[in-house]
Amino acid sequence: MPSIFTRIIQGEIPCHKVAETEDCLAFLDINPIARGHTLVVPKQEIDAFFDLDDGTMASLMIFAKRVAGALDRCIKCKRVGVMVIGTEVPHAHVHLIPFLQERQVSVTAPKLKIAPDEMAEIAASIRAEWDAGS
Ligand code: AMP
Repeated sequence: MPSIFTRIIQGEIPCHKVAETEDCLAFLDINPIARGHTLVVPKQEIDAFFDLDDGTMASLMIFAKRVAGALDRCIKCKRVGVMVIGTEVPHAHVHLIPFLQERQVSVTAPKLKIAPDEMAEIAASIRAEWDAGS
């Protein structure tokens, strides 16, 4: 059965998309721990992050770097934090977390409640930065 992220990539399940290339997709985490919390995923479905082949890993991380730049330009933050966890969704992905306080970059950080309209606005503003930088 395809992963939930493959179903998002294939357009079967909606997401708040922020950026896309031929190989990778970035969209807002549905349960964000910070405003602008974004997931970057390879379109190829591989479960564990460190099982990605070198080429896919390189293109995913270069994509993540560019998405982090867009986040940094439009979300007020101290830094864009990076986490790889992968215990919930068996499809390799990187969390990009624009944080104001270090404690936000934690698996145990409380989830924020952000209304769907606001999630759409956040995604649109990151997408505009992405488009401007591409
Ligand atoms: P993990 O596999 O532990 O790195 O966590 C998976 C992440 O994916 C969690 O932060 C979830 O909130 C997020 N997530 C799960 N389903 C969706 C979805 N349909 N859209 C966006 N984010 C999701």
